[in-house]
Amino acid sequence: MNLRNLWKKKDVTLSFEAFPPKKDDDFASVAAAVEQIAQLKPDFMSVTYGAGGGTSAYTARIARIVEEHGVAALAHLTCVSSNRDQIRQELAALQQAGIHNILALRGDYPQGYDPAAPRDYRYARDLVEDIVDYGGFTVGGACYPEGHVECASQQEDLEHLKEKVDCGVDFLITQMFFDNSALYSFLYRAQQVGITVPVLAGIMPVTNAAQMTRILALSGTTLPNRFRMILDKFRDRPDAMKQAGIVYAAQQMVDLVANGVRGVHVYTMNKPDVAAGIAENLSKVLGRT
Ligand code: FAD
Repeated sequence: MNLRNLWKKKDVTLSFEAFPPKKDDDFASVAAAVEQIAQLKPDFMSVTYGAGGGTSAYTARIARIVEEHGVAALAHLTCVSSNRDQIRQELAALQQAGIHNILALRGDYPQGYDPAAPRDYRYARDLVEDIVDYGGFTVGGACYPEGHVECASQQEDLEHLKEKVDCGVDFLITQMFFDNSALYSFLYRAQQVGITVPVLAGIMPVTNAAQMTRILALSGTTLPNRFRMILDKFRDRPDAMKQAGIVYAAQQMVDLVANGVRGVHVYTMNKPDVAAGIAENLSKVLGRT
């Protein structure tokens, strides 16, 4: 299913992110979790690529399972470690698997990466151009309400984002954030530079405090004090942390929907109970029947 017209038909969308297994042994358990999440009938599900060691074939296979459950799949694809031939092969494989939507990403630099070396892909915008040339896909891109970690200033990051969107991005999904005012400020500045595509808010229900501390260190996401207090209080009580994390994410989402956000994209970490907690608690808020 193609996502291109989704935001013309719906005021606000709900979508979930899944990640593929790293090895064959884990495929069945990941597939089972993804099937359960798909049964909640989100507007689409995205499937990450390569992050953490998985292979691209797993992304396409998990995306296929999503489609088979009647949910549109958005396959992530990174380019920084690939050449043009490899990307064309990936696009052909996705098309053959019946996937019509790609989140076009640069990816993080691999270890030992030499920025001066000649390469086919330097930025995600190069990949967006190639996907648009290839044809047949709706293209999403990533954005960073608090600025991408490598960029000198948020304004510079926004200008690069505008260039990327102009290459043919149909919608954007944000990096996770825990303070909605960061998103509102970003949306205002994005509008000022002429970015008009739907921006979906990336929301992470934090269910594991230790894991969160590692992710935050890498992403540069800031933590409001009231969320830091939750992490500190429930760090050693996993059940309480999970409940508090889902409630915090739900409160963020109610505020986002009330303020007119076009979609919420939930980083569910392959946890069906977390996805269900969000989908059920917010069904009326999100206008879902
Ligand atoms: P880009 O848009 O290319 O931006 C990267 C940096 O380059 C930014 O600092 C930007 O300002 C700068 N830049 C862009 N254009 C120019 C230019 N013309 N001149 C100078 N500087 C420029 N990673 C994975 O490995 N797998 C995944 O599945 C995955 N999924 C993700 C999903 C979301 C929603 C998000 C937000 C991130 C995801 N990532 C994933 C992480 C992502 O790959 C990294 O954040 C990566 O460092 C940047 O990717 P990008 O596509 O945003 O890059």
